Amino acid sequence: MPTIPYYDWIAHHAGRRPRQLAIHDLHTGRKISYAALDERIGRLTSALAARGIARGDRIALLAPNCAEYFELQFACGRLGAIMLPLNWRLTVPELEYILGDSSPKLLIHDRSFAPQATALSASLLEIDHDRADSAYERALAEAGPPPAAVPLTHDDIGMVMYTSGTTGHPKGAIITHGMVFWNCVNLGIPALITPETVQLVVLPLFHTGGLNCYANPVLHAGGTIVIMRNFDPGQALDCISDSALGITHFFAVPAPYQFMMQHPKFQAADLSRLRIAGVGGAPCALPILETWIARGVPLVQGWGMTETSPAGTMLDAADAIRKVGSAGKAMMHTAIRVIDDEGRDVPAGGIGELLIKGPNITPGYWNNEAATAKSFTDGWLHTGDAARLDEEGFVYIVDRWKDMYISGGENVYPAEVENVLFQIPAVADAAIIGVPNERWGEVGMAVIVRKPDQPLAEGDVIQHCLGRLAKFKVPQSVAFVDALPRNATGKVLKRELRVQFVGRDAPSIS
Ligand code: ATP
Ligand code: MG
Repeated sequence: MPTIPYYDWIAHHAGRRPRQLAIHDLHTGRKISYAALDERIGRLTSALAARGIARGDRIALLAPNCAEYFELQFACGRLGAIMLPLNWRLTVPELEYILGDSSPKLLIHDRSFAPQATALSASLLEIDHDRADSAYERALAEAGPPPAAVPLTHDDIGMVMYTSGTTGHPKGAIITHGMVFWNCVNLGIPALITPETVQLVVLPLFHTGGLNCYANPVLHAGGTIVIMRNFDPGQALDCISDSALGITHFFAVPAPYQFMMQHPKFQAADLSRLRIAGVGGAPCALPILETWIARGVPLVQGWGMTETSPAGTMLDAADAIRKVGSAGKAMMHTAIRVIDDEGRDVPAGGIGELLIKGPNITPGYWNNEAATAKSFTDGWLHTGDAARLDEEGFVYIVDRWKDMYISGGENVYPAEVENVLFQIPAVADAAIIGVPNERWGEVGMAVIVRKPDQPLAEGDVIQHCLGRLAKFKVPQSVAFVDALPRNATGKVLKRELRVQFVGRDAPSIS
């Protein structure tokens, strides 16, 4: 009887509850039990070994959300190989940069990305959900018995995952097996994840938010993930309302919550089965949190990064209303600090840089020793995020340092101003950027998407802010646009707004 490596949760659950549903792929309609998933992973492991993939080799994946992400993740684990999930929104030159950086031996791709894949690599394996005899399915069908699993430790690399690229070039964060494991432990307990959990997964699986909040922790616990290929607010509300699916968990960055609450189905949706609705990845404006509380769903805020795999802090569900706006406290096996420029701890109430340490933190960036060296002090990761702690030790994420601007010598954190903009009923979406100003150095500019047929003029916006914000925080101009630029995860790309309205991405702090 072969021993099951400790990082192979699928093999474990296949032995314990073989018929339990592991993955329900809404797009293909496929429902995969733990036993079936375990078998497919074994076949893929064998097929990859037959192609010469061995310990330490990289395998890239270019595909929309689908079950194959998990088949590859665990097959890589059994071989000691390294998975490289790719952002399909990137252009071929951008992907070339990543593949040049990581040199994968094989690129597994969905048929819809065949043109990009052919331009990128000569070593391909095609997934095609419309054909039972796709190259991927044939490779699995023809696979011999799987090789013995390679024994690995927590320090072995399981994945290289590129950051969202919100502030610049995405960086390849090294993700070890230990990091993913500790994230499952850290998140599983406060997010109430059990074998009965059924999570609707809507974020892209090539990013840590999709893969690890909470898909991996749910599979670790032996629960079920229901995968949506592309987020659609109406379909998401239908799924959450559907008693046959029985969705108990949902996680997203703020944008999907914003789009769902603006959808006509929102008020009538049955949200009663949701036990945990998590939000993180970007500042969440208070009016969004309040709207969901009013529908009986207090969103549980968390903060994290690709580099922290990702859970760093989280609110307990019990504090979601009392501490609305806070990202909670450090995860159980993780420590945080807020420090000033001199590296001293900032007292409660003061703003400083958030630092984090723990077994869920990356050892560094792939092929990028300079970035790695710059990011750590005594094992603490510099997050680049501004934060403050309150008297009870709850953390409030203020904004990215990079998005802060200085107006008349005063620091302005756009997220605070955006909170006030979201109170305006006619505002569908909003972002603040700092723009150069002769008198004040920089001043705020509001970029706003109006709700359809709702009049709103520049003067109305400024007037609304005047009574609610100190003068130096009030935006001095307003641009109305049809949509804000967002990355694949749904985060607003402030650098694109700065290029559009200032002519360059030139934050005052970087
Ligand atoms: P890049 O590093 O390539 O610019 P990115 O930082 O957006 O992209 P991710 O690792 O996906 O890549 O995101 C981590 C960042 O998301 C954090 O550093 C922080 O700025 C932001 N973030 C995460 N959670 C929260 C939160 N609860 N509130 C505010 N911001 C958050
Ligand atoms: Mg980052």
